[in-house]
Amino acid sequence: MKIGIVGCAGRMGRMLVATVLETAGADLAGGTEQPGSEAIGQDVAVLAGGDTTGLAVGDDPAALFQQSDVVIDFTAPAATVAHAAMAAETGTALVAGTTGLASEDDAALAQAAERTVILRAANFSIGVNLMLGLTEQVAGLLGDDYDIEIVEMHHRHKVDAPSGTALAIGEAAAKGRGVNLEDVSERVRDGITGARRAGDIGFATLRGGDVTGEHSAIFATDGERIEITHKAANRGLFAKGAIRAALWTAGQPAGLYSMRDVLGFS
Ligand code: NAD
Repeated sequence: MKIGIVGCAGRMGRMLVATVLETAGADLAGGTEQPGSEAIGQDVAVLAGGDTTGLAVGDDPAALFQQSDVVIDFTAPAATVAHAAMAAETGTALVAGTTGLASEDDAALAQAAERTVILRAANFSIGVNLMLGLTEQVAGLLGDDYDIEIVEMHHRHKVDAPSGTALAIGEAAAKGRGVNLEDVSERVRDGITGARRAGDIGFATLRGGDVTGEHSAIFATDGERIEITHKAANRGLFAKGAIRAALWTAGQPAGLYSMRDVLGFS
């Protein structure tokens, strides 16, 4: 399967290139970067720490979509929306890991999914997807005398907050409780906030160092606390999950899919 990587010089982009090159059944179709990037013209694989492949980093994503069966995108929201339109135009599948998308960006991806396969995940690790299912289940079993708080920590370079994964955990908890996250979400607390509202789902964001990604869903009531925690040790697991997802798209009908479809978690 021919896999293209947009944003191939990024932290995730390099990891994706390296992982495609070592995955049986996956061929690297090429990589692109945004116009003006110093990476343009350099060998895609050398940038990723490997041997030369003769494939130079390009700045023409439309051409990359033409040459690929599936394109993997861990870039930035505006770029991912533009790439989804190209995927719809060419019928190429898109695996999108970018986080921080606004609701209108989500709508643009859903529209593209009417014409091609769009697979989105805020987190491509198996463990986090298991955690989403567990959080939904636990939230459904416990009443709202259990306060739900979601805590996440990431490296100092991360630009969006709370993380897409923290929000996905919040969505799972809200779904378990049968409520809309938007109605109960408490994303920032500062100053004299008053007492906690029953039923709220709170978020706390920590940033620092080189932390790849840590998430906890906390269920706290009088006398006890349950915590479900996931810690990612390196980005390799996201890249492996994204490539597994890319291979899974072969032969799927157009539609919007998630990592839970790939893993068979209901
Ligand atoms: P990064 O800043 O290191 O890399 C992003 C790359 O995208 C950069 O090289 C940038 O130049 C490139 N880019 C931006 N606009 C582009 C365009 N129009 N065309 C081509 N390239 C473009 O960031 P990162 O740490 O690799 O993370 C990227 C995204 O992936 C973030 O949104 C992050 O939250 C998300 N992420 C998701 C998961 C997951 O499992 N879903 C895991 C890790 C990171």
